[in-house]
Amino acid sequence: MSATHINSYYAATANDPTRYPKLEGTIKADVCVVGGGFSGVSTALSLAERGYAVALVEARRIGWGASGRNGGQMIAGISGEHRIESQLGADGRRLLADIRYLGHDIIERRVETHQIRCDLKHGWGEVAARPRHMDLLRAYVDERRAEGDGDPLELVEPEAMEQVIGSNAYHGAYVDRRSGHLHPLNLCLGEARAAAGLGVRIFEESPVVSVTGGASPVVVTEEGRVEASSVVLAGYLDPSFQTGRLNGLLFPTGSYIVASEPLAEDMAREIIPGDLAIADSNVVLDYFRLSADRRLLFGGRCNYSNRDPADIRETLRPRMVEVFPQLKDVALDFAWGGKIDIVLTRVPAIGRREPNVYYMQGYCGHGVNATHIAGEIVADAISGTMERLDLFEKIRHIRLPVGQFLGNQMLALGMLYYRLRDLL
Ligand SMILES: Cc1cc2nc3c(=O)[nH]c(=O)nc-3n(C[C@H](O)[C@H](O)[C@H](O)COP(=O)(O)OP(=O)(O)OC[C@H]3O[C@@H](n4cnc5c(N)ncnc54)[C@H](O)[C@@H]3O)c2cc1C
Repeated sequence: MSATHINSYYAATANDPTRYPKLEGTIKADVCVVGGGFSGVSTALSLAERGYAVALVEARRIGWGASGRNGGQMIAGISGEHRIESQLGADGRRLLADIRYLGHDIIERRVETHQIRCDLKHGWGEVAARPRHMDLLRAYVDERRAEGDGDPLELVEPEAMEQVIGSNAYHGAYVDRRSGHLHPLNLCLGEARAAAGLGVRIFEESPVVSVTGGASPVVVTEEGRVEASSVVLAGYLDPSFQTGRLNGLLFPTGSYIVASEPLAEDMAREIIPGDLAIADSNVVLDYFRLSADRRLLFGGRCNYSNRDPADIRETLRPRMVEVFPQLKDVALDFAWGGKIDIVLTRVPAIGRREPNVYYMQGYCGHGVNATHIAGEIVADAISGTMERLDLFEKIRHIRLPVGQFLGNQMLALGMLYYRLRDLL
């Protein structure tokens, strides 16, 4: 297994070279967290802040997976909100209002407390890819204002779009001033360092091969084991962990990003004047933002069949130039991809596989905020406060018990329908 971060803009600008040891021999902990992405690191840190003895076991390196590769967009709420409302009614609405910015709050507090250098900036916008999408954005803003939670939101009418973006491709927007963007790998590494500082024992290059639950759970790696009172399966790990309630639940799907060469200051100001992170309103969406050194990070075009494109640059460049024709000659210095963990209901799956084996996964491309929310909910549950975990466990998920390959083909077919609908 490769223990090096993949070649990306983030790996090239990572600011913490710490390597953690391999797990060897038997150790004991109150909680063993499996997976060193945001789900795992965030949960471990939340538990350590409450005084638990925590071991975190990562197969490769901290931030190796989606958490060290994503678009860095810190977006309000979680995916599947309408499904939560329709299944849980008033309890669901209260839950959503309660957690909408919880991940943001946690991230901001940690960045401040632990002095994590991750280029955190505020301002995020959703742009209408079709004129009719503006009605949906207006309805969303109206709904949030009716709930008394609309203060961070601003509607941007089509004629005022030059305030948001130097592109004619969109038909209005809304901006959320509480959301924003950051360097995800540096956040993840910074949180891991903070967790280690609070006593979390972190192990890299230690793939977990089995987890036994029951009264005394044991997490086994090739060369070691952790005996713990509780285990957290933090994020989508690999198919062998998708048993019981997780069977047929999740289908990893490719998403890709290119990073341009650093842009001149006036060009950067021209394309995204307010330095917002931006996502479009399509189901199969494009998302982009400027990095701290003024590169355009342009991502999108999920590949639901789970097959990587032969050439990521050539796949994304035409779309980037369609949005920003002024960038047709810029060099693309980096190109990379990762897996988005899609669940069919779109609601993140947070719960227990057994009484003391917790899981959290399925953020559907909204994981920066949602992983931190999930980490807090699971840390609450381990500390005895079950209310929010209970609500997530009540969600009726759709499962496709057909195996990963067939499931991805079915998902790709379903998404083709949405892609065609986006184009109409
Ligand atoms: C290209 C891309 C762009 C995205 N853009 C955004 C965005 O802009 N905004 C947003 O909110 N979300 C975005 N997302 C989604 C977000 O990155 C994820 O939802 C989030 O990072 C999931 O974190 P995680 O910790 O659950 O999973 P991961 O970060 O994937 O971590 C799982 C970890 O588990 C480890 N692991 C696997 N198997 C084992 C094992 N057997 N033993 C031990 N460890 C194991 C892996 O090595 C990995 O480090 C994007 C995702 C991708 C791929």
